[in-house]
Amino acid sequence: MANAFDMNGTIEFYSNNIDRIRLPCRKAEKNSVKVKGELRDIEVDRLNALRALYPSNSLERSVFEYVVAKPETWFLPDAESRIRGGKNPVTTASGEAMSQTSIVPSYFNPVSWENGEIWLFDIPKEAVRDSRVREIILSEGFIHELAHSINFISRYKGDGQKLRFPNGKILTGKEAFESFGEIALKHEPMSHYSSGYFPGRILFDSASPDRTIDEELCETIAAYLLGFSYTPSESRRFSPFADRPEILAFVKDYLNAKLIF
Ligand SMILES: [Zn+2]
Repeated sequence: MANAFDMNGTIEFYSNNIDRIRLPCRKAEKNSVKVKGELRDIEVDRLNALRALYPSNSLERSVFEYVVAKPETWFLPDAESRIRGGKNPVTTASGEAMSQTSIVPSYFNPVSWENGEIWLFDIPKEAVRDSRVREIILSEGFIHELAHSINFISRYKGDGQKLRFPNGKILTGKEAFESFGEIALKHEPMSHYSSGYFPGRILFDSASPDRTIDEELCETIAAYLLGFSYTPSESRRFSPFADRPEILAFVKDYLNAKLIF
């Protein structure tokens, strides 16, 4: 199993399908994404259009506040054991990297229970020559981290969160999050990245199985909103839900569920 942190295969997949992958470009008029610093590889208009893919009920549950621009960053060779040991797994020195394609595209940084930042990193041009591919990587990363900002309260404080699903059913955030885990873990992982967190894989942590559910849910939401997913299953790359219609139905409902109090 290839390393979940090495984007080698993902970069190749995006490069080979550059004309098939469509990113949204609809201008969003309000709720513009705020950025701290200078983003090199993606435009703010694109981020606004990506954010607008999310149903408004899901954005109301999000703690996302700012995008923060970050420099080129790579995973260290022993990133997995560092993560398990609670140590910093990344470096900004390319000479120390696990490999030149083991790049960090994005990160969700919860600042408080109310606010979270999405970090978007410059993508090294040596690793990803085509600027369009760099933009696809950051688009997928932004959508993935925005999903974390929505799941955040359901995952950690979900007992106190009530969600009304489109069919009228009311679940707590915790119940919704765990229901997804129950159905999702019956399938192969949605993507190469989330596969690293599945039971039996190197990043699985039996002390926090919620991490597995969260990463799989973020990759599933990204696949739903963007229409592609880099997975070893070639037939699923442009029809990510072909083998899992019940997951597609769940994710639609989850994103459209209304927070009620
Ligand atoms: Zn994640």
